Amino acid sequence: MEGNIKLMREDGLRLDGRSLNEMRPIKIQTGVVDRADGSAFIEWGANKIIVAVYVREAYPKHAQNIDRAIVKARYNMSGYSVEERKRPGPDRRTMEISKVVSEALSSAIVLEKLPRAEIDVFIQVLEADAGTRIASLTASSVAVADAGVPMRDLVVGCTAGKADGKIVLDLSKDEDNFGQADIPMAILPRTGKVVLLQLDGDVTEEEFNEATSMMMDAMPRISELQRNALMSKYSIEDGE
Ligand code: UDP
Repeated sequence: MEGNIKLMREDGLRLDGRSLNEMRPIKIQTGVVDRADGSAFIEWGANKIIVAVYVREAYPKHAQNIDRAIVKARYNMSGYSVEERKRPGPDRRTMEISKVVSEALSSAIVLEKLPRAEIDVFIQVLEADAGTRIASLTASSVAVADAGVPMRDLVVGCTAGKADGKIVLDLSKDEDNFGQADIPMAILPRTGKVVLLQLDGDVTEEEFNEATSMMMDAMPRISELQRNALMSKYSIEDGE
């Protein structure tokens, strides 16, 4: 991250015209992969991500937990989802994102209800434009719920960061690349429990608090989109 590129306009708005605490538009849809147990498609700004969830008995048998399910999220970026072609296959970043998403989802799922099961969450990033780990997690939790897996809550996430010395919500690609900090966070909204929190860059304690409170303010709106996505699927099916 570098701090010497201008990321704010003269009028105080960001380069894409957003105010400091303005999100990019988000759309979530469920039931997009017929053969999966659950699925979701999210468009978050220019990010486009599809998630398919499959629930099955864990295999081989010695990999099973006799008293609870295992959650395995696999984050994958398509080669042409980014400006400079991404080499196929797992790299450190991909493995890190798969791990933090698996852990965050595990905190929301009632794992004891599905002993010996494996919940596979396949995340395919079709277009990436910053904030993909959080968009992936937000969509994954909808896809897991769509699969009928018992959950305590729908994990919801958001990103904030620092660009041109200002704390901003939902970093754009330029703000992510050239800003001074990137802070993705996800919570279980019912209890406020934090299930993912990462910090890349430098912020003071005051700036960190400003960023988290900006994100906490934005979470309810994203949660509502998640709930609406699930409800609209079931209301259409009920009407058929
Ligand atoms: N990115 C890229 N090539 C890569 C990895 C990432 O162009 O191999 C871009 C992509 O747009 C991604 C952004 O850099 O969304 C920020 O990546 P980061 O590691 O911060 O994760 P994210 O913000 O997507 O969760």
